[in-house]
Amino acid sequence: MKRIISLLIFLAVLLGVTPTTFSVAEAAFSDVPTTAWYHDAVIQAADLGYFAGTGNGNFSPDICISRAMLVTVLAKASGDELSKYREQAFKDVTSDAWYFEGCNWASEKGLVTGVGDGYYAPNAKLNREQFCVVMSHFRDKFGDSAELQYDYTEFDDDGAISQWAYDYVHTLRQAGAILSRVDNYFVPKATVTRADFAVTLLSCMGMLDNLPEDPQRHIFSISVTPSLSSVEEQKNTYVDVKFMPEDAHDKGLALYSSDESIATVDAAGNVYAKKPGKVTVTAVATDGGLSASCEITVTKKPEPKPEPKPQPQPIGGIRTNLDPNKPMIALTFDDGPHPTYSNQILNILEQYASVATFFEQGMNVDRYPDVVRREAALGCELGSHSYNHPQLTKLSYSQIRNQMDMTNQAFYKACGRYPTVMRPPYGSRNASVDSAVGLPLIIWSVDTLDWKYRDANYVYNYVINHAYDGAIVLMHSIHGTTAQAMQRIVPKLISMGYQLVTVSELGYYRGSPLKAGQRYYSFQ
Ligand code: ZN
Repeated sequence: MKRIISLLIFLAVLLGVTPTTFSVAEAAFSDVPTTAWYHDAVIQAADLGYFAGTGNGNFSPDICISRAMLVTVLAKASGDELSKYREQAFKDVTSDAWYFEGCNWASEKGLVTGVGDGYYAPNAKLNREQFCVVMSHFRDKFGDSAELQYDYTEFDDDGAISQWAYDYVHTLRQAGAILSRVDNYFVPKATVTRADFAVTLLSCMGMLDNLPEDPQRHIFSISVTPSLSSVEEQKNTYVDVKFMPEDAHDKGLALYSSDESIATVDAAGNVYAKKPGKVTVTAVATDGGLSASCEITVTKKPEPKPEPKPQPQPIGGIRTNLDPNKPMIALTFDDGPHPTYSNQILNILEQYASVATFFEQGMNVDRYPDVVRREAALGCELGSHSYNHPQLTKLSYSQIRNQMDMTNQAFYKACGRYPTVMRPPYGSRNASVDSAVGLPLIIWSVDTLDWKYRDANYVYNYVINHAYDGAIVLMHSIHGTTAQAMQRIVPKLISMGYQLVTVSELGYYRGSPLKAGQRYYSFQ
């Protein structure tokens, strides 16, 4: 098999170098139309044996040349005897490679230097500036020695040409062996096709009178802009790819993500963020292989905030430092405020950091607002006891409302707050009262009859003997004997393990948060 191939190559070379008016290539390549800008150069180079076809009757003018292809063609064009170049020049170009002698030859002639560490990277593609360096050297050694007479002007993208390539690029331009790629752009990083190569090669060898111009509108710049540089995981964003010139003949594009486990990108530029991290999204233009990249950061999805648990709305301020497992009792005082006795009751409550509930008459609130202010300040619960103590069951609905409104206003005026609970005078109520007061109705479960027995010992004993967890105790703040009894009631109840609480607290901690229009007797 090897022998047959060698024979065919020999024949091709023989035919190539044999002067003839008959073009083998013309008949051979179906993909090189006579109207193509590169037609003459390709046919001539093939007839000279510099190029072979790519099989199946094709020349493949648009295929990008590799570094192996470059030196193989140049070696043939040089006319040197290649069989002499059998000394391996590069680690990655071994004697069984079809480009072995070409690489060795190009290395010895100083046309190529490899990619470092003794490697040549034969399959890597060449870009235009690298190509110009090699071709400029080739022209000096094997090609046209005509003086440089062509274009001396700068390219619009001269600044993009690598420093080591700059002079070679411009020497070739002045030699008339290379043109701008589109408009006045050289596009140094674009790839080189077989058609480009044939044209420049023949020009360097002085075989073309005029360099044909590639009429295609090639891309000279590409950019990628992320719509969001930072995106949450499991969300989408996109990248916007722009070309110049806008009327490029080939807008073909490939998009890549540097890490598809972090984010993927589709052909339309849609980015799907998968997990936190950073990725580089790169767009590569089919035409010329120009590329551009952008970085996208995928951020962690914020932990969903737990829905705030609906807290029962405390009415009248519920303390949170109470122990629901210890007994509680609500002491309540009607008919005040009283300028002396109310304050005596408040003194002992304050001393023991305890609270009670005061059901005040609105008219007394108007008279002694300071007392109400102090009750509020000490955390006691403010209760309405009507404005002037009528039996509410004998009043019309609107009269009841009037009693409530006047009392509410008195409280608000005194301390900036409204009462949160209501006790009807005499405990007298019916369905109309219940609905008219607009507050929870607090009756009682322990009646001290302190208004009847004006005796501090009696009141003290009655409270202590009838106390139980959840009880609502009825007293009055307008009697000195009650205020006197309180001096002993408070420390005694506390020593018995009771927490002295407001009615609202008792309801809250015993599972029955108070509701307007509902009646409460105790929370057992
Ligand atoms: Zn009363």
